[in-house]
Amino acid sequence: VIWFVVRLLIILLLVRLVWRFVASVLTGLAEPRGRMSGNQAVPLVRDPVCGTFVVPARALPLSDGRSTVYFCSERCRDLYSSKAQG
Ligand SMILES: [Zn+2]
Repeated sequence: VIWFVVRLLIILLLVRLVWRFVASVLTGLAEPRGRMSGNQAVPLVRDPVCGTFVVPARALPLSDGRSTVYFCSERCRDLYSSKAQG
């Protein structure tokens, strides 16, 4: 009887694990552009000053005439612009 209970508990644990996995997959399918998606749908840009990768939508852009660079903060943007001019 004890072995039956132990096996039942193990099966329950496995079912819970599988259910959590299935639920996470289902929510991932429901939200293809979710925050936690690890795909490369959202391209990241690199802050040239500190090297941090930032999302363009949340970054501070600075256009130098030919191309636009993105920064994680105003400090980095100021540093970059002062470097470019000086
Ligand atoms: Zn930065």
